[in-house]
Amino acid sequence: MTTCGPSSPPRDFDLPALREKYAAERDRRLRSDGSAQYVHTGAGERSEFWEADPHSPPVQRDAIVSEVEVLVVGGGFAGLLAGAHLTKSGVTDVRIIDMAGDFGGVWYWNRYPGIQCDNEAYSYIPLLEELGYMPSKRFPDGAEIYEHCRNIGKHFGLYDGALFGTMIRAIRRDEPTGRWVVTTHHDDELRARYVVLATGPWSKPKLPGIPGLDEFTGHTFHSARWDYDYTGGSVSDTALDRLADKRVAVIGTGATAIQIVPHLGRHAERVYVFQRTPSAVDARRNPPTDPAWAASLEPGWQKRRQAAFHTFASEPFPTRSPSEDVACDFFTEVGRNVSARIAGRELPPDELAAIREQEDYAVMERVRRRVDDIVADPATAEALKPYYRYLCKRPCSSNEYLETFNRPNVTLVDVSGTRGVQRMTEHGLVAGGREYEVDCVIFASGFEISAQDQRLASGIDEIVGRDGLSLQDHWRDGFRTLHGMTSHGFPGMFFMGNTQGGGNASVTANYVQQGEHIAYIVAQAHARGATTVEPTRRAQDDWVALIRAVATPKTFLEQCTPGYYNNEGGGNGGIRPATGERYGRGFYEFDRILRDWRDTGELPGMALLGAPGDRPG
Ligand code: NDP
Repeated sequence: MTTCGPSSPPRDFDLPALREKYAAERDRRLRSDGSAQYVHTGAGERSEFWEADPHSPPVQRDAIVSEVEVLVVGGGFAGLLAGAHLTKSGVTDVRIIDMAGDFGGVWYWNRYPGIQCDNEAYSYIPLLEELGYMPSKRFPDGAEIYEHCRNIGKHFGLYDGALFGTMIRAIRRDEPTGRWVVTTHHDDELRARYVVLATGPWSKPKLPGIPGLDEFTGHTFHSARWDYDYTGGSVSDTALDRLADKRVAVIGTGATAIQIVPHLGRHAERVYVFQRTPSAVDARRNPPTDPAWAASLEPGWQKRRQAAFHTFASEPFPTRSPSEDVACDFFTEVGRNVSARIAGRELPPDELAAIREQEDYAVMERVRRRVDDIVADPATAEALKPYYRYLCKRPCSSNEYLETFNRPNVTLVDVSGTRGVQRMTEHGLVAGGREYEVDCVIFASGFEISAQDQRLASGIDEIVGRDGLSLQDHWRDGFRTLHGMTSHGFPGMFFMGNTQGGGNASVTANYVQQGEHIAYIVAQAHARGATTVEPTRRAQDDWVALIRAVATPKTFLEQCTPGYYNNEGGGNGGIRPATGERYGRGFYEFDRILRDWRDTGELPGMALLGAPGDRPG
């Protein structure tokens, strides 16, 4: 496997002029409605874009009334890792519930043509060593990752008791019995001592807020519910033969569209890609896994690799030597080049920030020049260039995406100046005053972000804790948690994902961390004869205060072009990171806090409650 040093991006550019260009590009996309521009799906509204499952038949069954120790909401990586760690801690009465027909989360739902992991799988896919599995290539296909999810389920016995095809409607605390009562669209009544909310940050599709969305009479679907009946082909055979006489529009040019568009270009009669903001698309190095390298790995290799990946991909000023960057790709390039410049020196904050900015602009300039090298039409090439800082949006890689715009049947429709598509009509889409008639519109328009609103993102109407306190009200002015995982007033309820915890470049590492911690707490409660656990108000408030005291300033996000990373540039709810309120001193420092907390053996700030009705101090 490669190790690498700093790259050599271009240096002959005018940084102050580019800075102004970035600001102008952001400003012309800013809109006062921010994230409110989007159209929600589910719960009776456009439910076909969310609740309809193209991969499994609807589950028909009688309502279940049952009791379980731990009920996990969500069977994606987060829920699976909670289940895995609980099982390892000896807590085996675990029931995972998911609206999908199987485990897998995003890897169950997203089966669009071309789906692959887009950051390197040796770091991203969890439990590789534990399951004795090695990805077939650096960026494996979605089907392979989905299979790994299923294998986690089998390995830890999580299929026992799992309920698929089941949508949770409400989770309410029943204080007299000390249980959570979970109701579903099958009219189940499931009682649980503990509930783990592992609903995932990208599970609920959202639609673009285009006037006239319902007027279009052609076919539509969201990228996360790919309709192979309409397009032909399958996830394993991407020959989309039924599109040969179809005009297709794609709305969106994020990480998903980058993977889809080349397949549409190859198979559809005409493709219109409606682009509001271009992605930064680098080359994709995706070799098969070298068996000799795999055989040479020493135990503990995955955690070490993740640590290196996270250093260069997420730390603003990495101090490791660039030669330790084993991923060696676009995700880590800016970090690697910054670390080469710092070269282990102690530098003042201004100088560090200047280095970071210069390296960021240089790498983004390299990516822009790559567009000129590939795309033949100069106007199309210019429109495809990303003018914003690295990590304002998800970095992408593809050896086919930009190339697709050289095809005669593919047109890029730049809608940046009109704040998106102007409107939909009976026959198509209007942009720049012209109507584009199409047979099908594919929404690659992203997902509700759970860091902003758990109810919106999960579709669970009510999460109500002790004394009728709704989680939405409790978190109305921001998260209130201990370590991002528990909240006062919600005994025995745990949260996974982006709240007030650590953050890094692959979300699965967060889930491992959270799964371990939650399992430890539940196992300790059992061992000590407690019936549930709950953080004290004081411990929660102290954590919130610490999180805010060490928070990273929002300056970077404020400068970014709008997108889900910065709550669409503000407007509704102001600038907010999609990653929640991360612990600002880094993922590994947060990990140390959790370990130290566990090492005390006393669960400080966490009340172990005995009889139902007990309350923490
Ligand atoms: P995104 O939210 O990243 O992209 C949505 C796209 O829709 C943007 O290009 C947005 O434009 C565009 N859009 C929204 N409204 C309009 C409108 N009215 N008119 C025109 N365009 C519009 O969603 P994705 O599904 O692409 O990606 C979501 C996340 O999923 C990624 O960031 C990544 O984290 C993850 N992902 C992971 C993969 C993996 O392999 N691990 C693969 C694919 C996705 P604008 O930018 O202007 O807002």
